[in-house]
Amino acid sequence: AFLPTTDLYEVFADVSGADREVWDRARAIAAYPGALDRINQAWEAAEYPLEIVARLAEAGLLTTGVDIPGYQQMSPLAAGLVHMELARYDGSVATVVAVQPGLAMRSIAMLGSEEQKQAWLPRLASGELLGAFGLTEPDHGSDAVALETTARRDGDEWVINGAKRWIGNGSVGHLTVVWARTENGGVSGFLVEQHRPGYVAETITGKVSMRAIPQAHITLTDVRVPLSAQLPGARSFRDIAGILRATRIEIAWASFGHAIACYEAAVHQATTRIQFGRPLAANQQIQQRLGDMLGDLVAMALYCRRLAELEAASGVSEAQASLAKVQNTRRARRIAADARDMLGGNGILLENDVVRHMADIEALHTYEGTDSIQSLIIGRSITGLNAFGVRP
Ligand code: FAD
Repeated sequence: AFLPTTDLYEVFADVSGADREVWDRARAIAAYPGALDRINQAWEAAEYPLEIVARLAEAGLLTTGVDIPGYQQMSPLAAGLVHMELARYDGSVATVVAVQPGLAMRSIAMLGSEEQKQAWLPRLASGELLGAFGLTEPDHGSDAVALETTARRDGDEWVINGAKRWIGNGSVGHLTVVWARTENGGVSGFLVEQHRPGYVAETITGKVSMRAIPQAHITLTDVRVPLSAQLPGARSFRDIAGILRATRIEIAWASFGHAIACYEAAVHQATTRIQFGRPLAANQQIQQRLGDMLGDLVAMALYCRRLAELEAASGVSEAQASLAKVQNTRRARRIAADARDMLGGNGILLENDVVRHMADIEALHTYEGTDSIQSLIIGRSITGLNAFGVRP
């Protein structure tokens, strides 16, 4: 699976059967001639490589982590390995799976009616439609709980007004799960087709992270949807928290994938680049740094494997998901920076497969709840005290 020494504690050596088969399918996404050139070119051009999205669908990976009738249900371990393996290839490709099944389809699967599931999930799973999840607003990111988008009932329709920001697939897809406050003050989810009048989405430009998947700034002006567009299971922010708990686990796995890619590039460079008449790797400092990187990778692997075990058994708590997310993204950030340094000038070239990961990890550090927000969730679970701040 990895370079011989990467999985030093054989954390994944026993993966077999259906899990191994899913893992191999995820790895095959990156195993085509020119795969690295293609993704580097898309990243540089800030272009959405839709043919790769189609390949994810063909490989049955747009159902990762959600249970869809007629599709194979993946174990938590297999789903995690998909996120890891895709991120090891590319962060934007992994984000497609984090957004489409991870956020949009999971919202419908967890909180939708039978009719909604039947109407949308198969078409999203097959890649015929692209889905988005609109929670973050221009003025509410970390405090999304204070969202201001409203949904007002008017006869047999909901009328939605507000704005959303940073929404993956929000300008290029078909369906957006829009989170809005209803007249009784509760928060609910609405299935909004992107062609509805009043839904205006612009792709955010000038990004230096996750450049190969577009995020949107969306304004919603008197967008009308039928009453049947409301997710019946979505009644409060708690319901969203359940979705985010699941996607934070996915980010812990994705961070691990990015870190493996960076570490492998660093080992390759250290063993092949000759300076002062010998390979870089013959220097004690370099060996120590590679050892420290490996130690971080082992810790990341153990977090991931244990999350999968817990999820398969009794479930993962919010604090467990947050701790793994924050610890693994920090380690990935550290490994990427170290690998970038070890490649010298070559480290800033896309073709050497480190700097794109390094830039993409910056988004992982922030999305699905920032590093600091995860720490506040963990701190609340340790102390019983809420340190998020006071809302007016
Ligand atoms: P802010 O909330 O403004 O935070 C800025 C800084 O302040 C951070 O360091 C934060 O940790 C810190 N901070 C905030 N509050 C506190 C506090 N109480 N104590 C200590 N520190 C604090 N959202 C979606 O809904 N759907 C998507 O598909 C989606 N995709 C995304 C893709 C990308 C590439 C990015 C970058 C973001 C995406 N997001 C998406 C939004 C993402 O979830 C938010 O960016 C994130 O929650 C942080 O919000 P913010 O950017 O507004 O930062």
